Amino acid sequence: MAEHGPIFGAMLEEFDLAARILNLDPGIWRILTHPKRQIVVSCPVQMDNGEIEVFTGYRVQYNITLGPAKGGIRYHPDVSLDEVTALSAWMTWKCAVAQLPFGGAKGGIVCDPTRMSKRELEALTRRYVSELIDAIGPDKDVPAPDVNTNDQTMAWIMDTYSMHVGHTSTAVVTGKPIAMGGSLGRREATGRGVMIVTREAAKHLGIEIKGATVAVQGCGNVGSVSAELLESIGARIVAVTDWKGGVVNKKGLDVQRLLAYQREHRSVEGFPGGEPITNEELFALDVDVLVPAALENQITAENAGSVRAKIVTEGANGPTTPEGHRIMHANGVFVIPDILANSGGVTTSYFEWVQDRHGYFWEEAEVNTKLERKMCEAFESVLATSLKFKVDMRTAAYIVAIERVGTVTKMRGMYA
Ligand code: NAD
Repeated sequence: MAEHGPIFGAMLEEFDLAARILNLDPGIWRILTHPKRQIVVSCPVQMDNGEIEVFTGYRVQYNITLGPAKGGIRYHPDVSLDEVTALSAWMTWKCAVAQLPFGGAKGGIVCDPTRMSKRELEALTRRYVSELIDAIGPDKDVPAPDVNTNDQTMAWIMDTYSMHVGHTSTAVVTGKPIAMGGSLGRREATGRGVMIVTREAAKHLGIEIKGATVAVQGCGNVGSVSAELLESIGARIVAVTDWKGGVVNKKGLDVQRLLAYQREHRSVEGFPGGEPITNEELFALDVDVLVPAALENQITAENAGSVRAKIVTEGANGPTTPEGHRIMHANGVFVIPDILANSGGVTTSYFEWVQDRHGYFWEEAEVNTKLERKMCEAFESVLATSLKFKVDMRTAAYIVAIERVGTVTKMRGMYA
């Protein structure tokens, strides 16, 4: 893009590195560094106090070469077109690395959901969907939850879309409640994927996962399930932080008790099973594995040098800046990049979409077995590419993605 913000700029920096190594055709390079479609909508909502507020919403469909656009919707005061565009590009590469028949998209609404009632959030969601009604659909663009949206939000989206098209369309969104076409295993899928790639990386590096120490930033959907499942395979969770504070215990935290405490207090801060810890202290802990699972731009040029973990598994999207990544790579940290590490969510979203389209639902064990296979295949192909080109895992993941999307772009040719 001629003009872009810093988050999309970071994506471009990562992309360019891989494209240069691939000696990518300049025309394909140009296509893959431009979003296909950026939609900006205004969503008027009558608030509970009777006043009308207008919220800005975005949906960016970055690329649909491999299939319908796919990506979550985020509700946050800091949402911007730059952020949504970068996230939609990352979804494109993530779906390609996971070998899913999807392109990439992302959506967002600039709002503070913590200050809105359920009724206001429902009205905002339904208005946003009706503004996008011609752009989304099971064959066009399939939203999913992201930060501050959940299965209830997806239920409203599914209902609004279905009312507009005149029939129940379950496959228009993923991450829905199980009772209305959601997939078993979807809620845990991103964290499960984080666990699987961390386990595979430890195997590759000769680190025994049993007894390995883990620090997790963020204790939402991704962070909490990552902690639970890493603990379930024998790792020791020694620190967790969230928006309010954190807790550390070198002997290991009892994750179930921690999560029960968090449900009650809306934060892990003050958990009696450990001492307080800040994010900066968490990043500098002498642990085997660090899982950033909160928001983007957490590991930067300022603090990357303090990271002592052997493996960094990026549960969040874009948690590391390009400079932060360079520093960690130079220090020998094995970084499993977001577009590989957190692809368990979209992979199980794909399973949900397939089940909805077939009207036939799988047992949880089948979902998890298929996810295990997909994650291992993705990890192996990125690792093999990293060894072949002698590059870090992030550049390798981009190489895999760019090769897949670029090859199909060439095969399909230009329609003019
Ligand atoms: P969530 O809203 O459930 O959880 C976010 C967590 O981060 C919360 O515990 C919050 O307290 C914490 N947090 C916020 N600010 C923080 C800060 N400054 N320091 C420490 N913790 C902080 O969101 P989520 O679904 O778990 O998503 C987390 C990240 O993972 C996002 O980057 C998202 O895009 C990415 N992701 C999510 C999924 C998914 O399936 N949910 C899939 C792929 C990627």
